[in-house]
Amino acid sequence: MGKVILEDVTKRYADVTAVDKMNLEIEDGEFVTLVGPSGCGKSTTLETIAGLTIPTDGKITIADREVTNLPPKDRGIAMVFQNIALFPHMDVYDNISFGLRLRDYPKEEIDRRVDRASDIVQLEGMLDRMPDEMSGGQRQRVAIARAIVREPEVFLMDEPLANLDAKLRVHMRTELQRLHKELDTTIIYVTHDQAEAMTMSDRIAVIDGGELQQIAPPLVCYNEPANLFVAGFIGSPSMNFVEGEVTSTGLSTPNFDVEFDPGQLSGVAEGDHLTLGVRPEDVYLRQGSEGVANPTQSIPARTDVLEPMGDEIFVYLLTGDAAEPSMEADPETSKNQLLMSVSPDSDIEAEQDVEVVLDRERVHLFDTETGDAISHTLEFPATEAGAAETETEAEGDD
Ligand code: ADP
Repeated sequence: MGKVILEDVTKRYADVTAVDKMNLEIEDGEFVTLVGPSGCGKSTTLETIAGLTIPTDGKITIADREVTNLPPKDRGIAMVFQNIALFPHMDVYDNISFGLRLRDYPKEEIDRRVDRASDIVQLEGMLDRMPDEMSGGQRQRVAIARAIVREPEVFLMDEPLANLDAKLRVHMRTELQRLHKELDTTIIYVTHDQAEAMTMSDRIAVIDGGELQQIAPPLVCYNEPANLFVAGFIGSPSMNFVEGEVTSTGLSTPNFDVEFDPGQLSGVAEGDHLTLGVRPEDVYLRQGSEGVANPTQSIPARTDVLEPMGDEIFVYLLTGDAAEPSMEADPETSKNQLLMSVSPDSDIEAEQDVEVVLDRERVHLFDTETGDAISHTLEFPATEAGAAETETEAEGDD
């Protein structure tokens, strides 16, 4: 059915390679989101699937049929765009049924499809409204209904929620998930908004510079990012990154060391440059970190700015020299900065000396040069590993 396969799809415009050897295999009924910064090639990828752009190289298959050079109308797809181009002089019924009427579908078939589609997007009772009598969200639902009546094998959506206000966007996310469940059809969705991608998709395809960086379920991209780009792009606020050099006992960074056994990481040798990555929620105040099974040794820091968010407080920490009270914070200190998230009932204050630890089980290591992920957890040094195991066993016996 609606399985979509891209094999080495490349699209070049003069000297710009918009899409570079893209390989994707999207299962029938899957909701896959293409996500990445502006200009990374998401829309161009979607357009090659839609047939609005013919790739320079590569092959596209939809529902077991090669469609690389077919026009959009012969691909069994329907598209929903960011700009909802409804006909202003037509009511909702006429807008939804326009494509079917153009193709001379019988009246009863058109009525059946419009009824079903308007039911799915909850527009019943509004079929005789004019577009200017509707809200932005309702107009977007008309656009989606217009795609549904085509009964496509695959829905292609390019930032369909981008023009809606923040509250409605969150609401429409839930609606799209419900729609996907109800239609049981493949949906390929484009957005630059990683939160949108995380919440709706079965899998997300993270793209940068026209190249696929990782395709995986949202939580896999979050917990096991394939490289520095994915690690930094997925998650808000972004992961902390600290560069360091491998020693015989771990990683030495300008402001603190973390111990692990480099021997446990294949291809890593003393003197290698690695980047440590840790998410704000995996940085803990040492006092109160009892819940963390495997903390790193303490890192002295000074709290700088606090950002209370309601459900958590973001604490900007300064480490190393920058933690000296006499130091003025300047842009250079950003590399000495560590962002930590704490509970809203914490009594932490700005400009306080603290000790923090990182949750070893959630510390990532990346090759600084290639950006590739090396590990998503910090193995203990061999000697300590034994000790830690004994401790855990002892606890288990209690
Ligand atoms: P995204 O959807 O991720 O924002 P696009 O796919 O729109 O990115 O664009 C990817 C790159 O290709 C950009 O550098 C863009 O400027 C370029 N590009 C897209 N369409 C065209 C075009 N028709 N002509 C020339 N360059 C284009």
